[in-house]
Amino acid sequence: MTEQKSKCDACAEKGSCKDQSPGNECTCTVDRMARVKNKIIIASGKGGVGKSTVSVNLAKALNLKGYRVGVLDADITGPDIPKLLGIEDERLTQGEEGIEPANAGGIKVASMALVLSDRDSPVVWRGPMKMAAIKQFIQEVNWGDLDFLLIDLPPGTSDEPISVLQLIPDLAGAIIVTTPQEVSLLDSRKAVNMVKAMKLPVLGIVENMSGLICPHCGEAINIFSAGGGQRMADEMDVPFLGAIPIDPKICALGDSGRTFVQSDIKAGESFGKIVNRLIAFFGYEDKSI
Ligand code: ADP
Repeated sequence: MTEQKSKCDACAEKGSCKDQSPGNECTCTVDRMARVKNKIIIASGKGGVGKSTVSVNLAKALNLKGYRVGVLDADITGPDIPKLLGIEDERLTQGEEGIEPANAGGIKVASMALVLSDRDSPVVWRGPMKMAAIKQFIQEVNWGDLDFLLIDLPPGTSDEPISVLQLIPDLAGAIIVTTPQEVSLLDSRKAVNMVKAMKLPVLGIVENMSGLICPHCGEAINIFSAGGGQRMADEMDVPFLGAIPIDPKICALGDSGRTFVQSDIKAGESFGKIVNRLIAFFGYEDKSI
């Protein structure tokens, strides 16, 4: 109740709100999402294709370009964003204006991994509880004014990612991450159709693990084939944002909580093109130049 009171005290609608009477559950209408200019979904047809890697590197790249960025880790059972951003040991805290997000070098982050006391315990919640947690991240986290909020969706096209899509108001669209193999592309096509069925724009396809850069000679070896993402984008009439090669350094950097956009690896160059295409879509200029 005390917690509720301080939340209401900080609320801009305090004077007009009808939910302040004792015992009333707060249905606070302060729309924190209205302060976020562009809400972007990062989705994939299946797990393990690099969706979270793309999310954190996109967040870092946009932040380095001068934009205010947040990442909402909507993958409640596999929340890897804090690990990839090196903030595993941080915790969300209750502040005067709501739940305070964690700070990863200027990027605001909310994730189930920042709430759990033990990183190895599985979250065995059923759907409604998971949605309640995501709702809290949307409505109660003090995101402040953001240029971009990247929402890392649970993988696949089941009711869970669809429910998350329905929860977040006024989405700008979705980026679909795929790998080049046929089995991955097959699932990615479903993800594209899921986004289309929700009447959301597909901002583009990212083909990750597109060829291996040989650590010795620097040449590309097409382990999982290459070019399938572009083909799929053409066939489904959606934009292709670009390809990221396999690079053992991407994995090593991720494991140590660092993004690869700040490193000098070749994949950084390909990723830069993806980021620039995305910025161009929103009609922004590179603020860092
Ligand atoms: P998802 O979110 O789709 O489950 P992740 O982003 O967690 O996938 O990536 C799975 C693993 O693959 C991570 O260990 C990550 O570091 C690694 N990885 C992702 N993309 C690449 C890449 N292009 N080259 C090498 N390793 C990668």
